[in-house]
Amino acid sequence: MRLKILGTRGNIPLSAPRYARHSGILVDTRILLDLGEPAYLRYRPRHIFITHLHPDHAAFLQAAVATDAEIYLPEPTRRFPAGKVMGRPVQSGSYRIVPVPTVHSLKARSVGYVVEKGRRRVFFSSDLVAIEQRYHRRLRGLDLVITDGSYMRRGGLVRTDPASGRPFGHTGIPNLVEFFRRFTSRIIITHFGSWFYQDIAAATRQIASLGDGVRTSAARDGLVVDV
Ligand SMILES: [Zn+2]
Ligand SMILES: [Zn+2]
Repeated sequence: MRLKILGTRGNIPLSAPRYARHSGILVDTRILLDLGEPAYLRYRPRHIFITHLHPDHAAFLQAAVATDAEIYLPEPTRRFPAGKVMGRPVQSGSYRIVPVPTVHSLKARSVGYVVEKGRRRVFFSSDLVAIEQRYHRRLRGLDLVITDGSYMRRGGLVRTDPASGRPFGHTGIPNLVEFFRRFTSRIIITHFGSWFYQDIAAATRQIASLGDGVRTSAARDGLVVDV
């Protein structure tokens, strides 16, 4: 599989060249994971899988979009009635896309996606507090994980809803590396928070130093990765 990471900026006002666009990963020009910018439709993907209904991942929440792609969502929305709700794995040609429920927001349901082709398996999580134990088996044997770079500090920014006791927000990159390293030998960090923009060269080095046996690296807009 050839993956192109189209956008690496989180839902923040800061921006920089090569770290300017919102969430989107193109898989072999056929499948798009997240539609953070309407401009990504020019790649003419056949299937689009949205991780959650926040505007930096689902541009149609704030702008009209026209596409003949099938769009899969974690939950229905009036902003895009033609969207299909993701339930079981979806087959797209020789690709299989498997949803993995994630913990992120109190109001929006969220999923990550495993994309399989032959024996290759890639996982993209978007914004993340945690993944419940019961879904961990879906993550076994991954060739690559692409995940949330909102916070470098340990623990990130996770709050707890007093009514339900449910956590929400983003955990820290060190926590994500510790979690995912049991499933993969390669982790790419994307969806950068403001910490990253203070000193991009230092931030990139810091991410690369976290691996401890696993290859960790920072994405940039347009990065191509072969798996
Ligand atoms: Zn986000
Ligand atoms: Zn979000």
